[in-house]
Amino acid sequence: MKVSWFHEHGSPEVLVCEETTTPTPGPGEALVRVRATGVNHVDIDVRAGTSRVPIRFPHILGREFAGEIAALGPVSGDALDRQPVHSAGGLREGDRVWVSCRLPCGRCEFCISGRDNLCERGGYFGMDLPGGYAQYVTVPVSTLNPLATSVSFEQAAASQIAFGTAWHVLITRGGLRAGHTVLIQAAGSGIGSAAVQLARLAGAKVIATAGSVDKLERARELGAHHLINYRTDPQFSAQVMAITGGRGVDLVMEHVGGDLFTESLACLCIDGTMVTVGGHGGEVVPFDIIPFFRRQLKLVGSKNASIAELREVMSLIAQGRLAPVIDTVFPIEQAACAHQLVESRAFFGKVVLRC
Ligand SMILES: [Zn+2]
Repeated sequence: MKVSWFHEHGSPEVLVCEETTTPTPGPGEALVRVRATGVNHVDIDVRAGTSRVPIRFPHILGREFAGEIAALGPVSGDALDRQPVHSAGGLREGDRVWVSCRLPCGRCEFCISGRDNLCERGGYFGMDLPGGYAQYVTVPVSTLNPLATSVSFEQAAASQIAFGTAWHVLITRGGLRAGHTVLIQAAGSGIGSAAVQLARLAGAKVIATAGSVDKLERARELGAHHLINYRTDPQFSAQVMAITGGRGVDLVMEHVGGDLFTESLACLCIDGTMVTVGGHGGEVVPFDIIPFFRRQLKLVGSKNASIAELREVMSLIAQGRLAPVIDTVFPIEQAACAHQLVESRAFFGKVVLRC
């Protein structure tokens, strides 16, 4: 099979497309013929060696992917009662599937309480487990989900992390409701473009920021009511206050960090909430405590999305109520070009590999 992997950390050119042995599914596993894989910014960090994630070389990236079941391994069973511990949920060879991007342990306090996004014992495809930058990958059958025929493999590969993360930020952590006003930072990114759509679906008024005129226009097409260019207007809190009649926004989705983090806090209404879910623009920021408690603000962290949330957003995509925005699809042989594009930030939505 073809695989795009890297034998050492470095620039995009360390990603090389080579032939390797197709893996064999073990008990309770399936062999998936990958058709499309989403490229995420964390892929860049893992490749460059800045992610602090321990990996073994050669490493296969690819956190979210979709394809077909090529083969099912033997059903694993308990030695005593011979009961199967996994089934493929009625899925069969040849079925179209999307693969959950994480493998929760199913036993810890977080998994048991439905907060499996916080599980620290499970695995992540493309990080501690081989990912989807390959034509075939073996996965536990518990990670398989049927893919509706209304959703293409490329769309499925572009949806899970962007919409799942946005759902967890806006709905679960941010408590977004109809009538709220929300500020969505970096609406040109995969998660930002997903958040604009989700916030509109939730009935919120959306203020979107981006760093270019083109990206702002695309955000408007996705449904954003108000647009702010944070490059030409770095002190954008004044504009947010003007748009909201001096009140401020109920919720900020912040995933950039640095100066945007600090300015975003100044955009909140009294008792407003800011959810933070990324910090590539600067991980350590100044923080003024006085307005924070006097305005009774809330700062909330957010991590990934639960499996239930992933299934919810994939269902909404299958119904056509949300639509992933795909900028470019590269063949797997050009994974290095895909990484160059993501690093350049000159794209809107998601970059996808066709395998
Ligand atoms: Zn767990």
